[in-house]
Amino acid sequence: MEAACRGLDVSIFYSPQGERGLDRRVREKAAIEICSGCPARKKCADFALSTRQEFGVWGGLTEADRELRRISRSAAPAPAPPDEHRDSSPS
Ligand code: SF4
Repeated sequence: MEAACRGLDVSIFYSPQGERGLDRRVREKAAIEICSGCPARKKCADFALSTRQEFGVWGGLTEADRELRRISRSAAPAPAPPDEHRDSSPS
């Protein structure tokens, strides 16, 4: 499996200092387009989320996309604790 970004200029994926607005959106859109055809996209996105990568486009996710996912995950209700009083004997 070869990453679609292999050999490309990494500046497509990372914001130069102070980049904002239209310039940022255009660059991120170009990076997302490259990622959309990458066979490693899911792995790349999962890695970025699990290692909390702060910068760049990874797996088609921008910095803002990852931040939103982190926020929504942390706002999700905690899983229910195991039922300690459940009768495990056969009936
Ligand atoms: S998904 Fe990851 S490995 Fe693939 S092109 Fe995008 S940044 Fe590169």
